[in-house]
Amino acid sequence: MSDREQETAAPATRRLTEARAQTLQQIAALRRNFEGIVEAALLVNTDDEHDPEGATIAFERAQVSALSKQADADLAAIDDALERLRRGSYGRCEVCAGPIGDERLDAIPSATRCIACASMASSRHDGRAQ
Ligand SMILES: [Zn+2]
Repeated sequence: MSDREQETAAPATRRLTEARAQTLQQIAALRRNFEGIVEAALLVNTDDEHDPEGATIAFERAQVSALSKQADADLAAIDDALERLRRGSYGRCEVCAGPIGDERLDAIPSATRCIACASMASSRHDGRAQ
């Protein structure tokens, strides 16, 4: 790796490492949250979905589980980005092969598409949000 490449890779590595740590924290917090809800459900001793309390717990569990899935996907995307960084393809759009742009990578370190391709995909409603 040349000095120039080292210079561009270093902030990306830092951003991805930070994002990874945050996502891991989020996953841990969600897991605690989920366990808390399960414990609360045991305390009120209801698994009846028709009971208002039971319905609330079911809703909270569904919400936390959706957030957990999202956090797991975030973590996978970050690991993919770290892998691209090692291979030297990080920061390139997977669609048009153009640069993704520093501002966008700042906001979404694991972005795989440039803003133009990402907004094209989301306007067709067939792509991922990033
Ligand atoms: Zn693109």
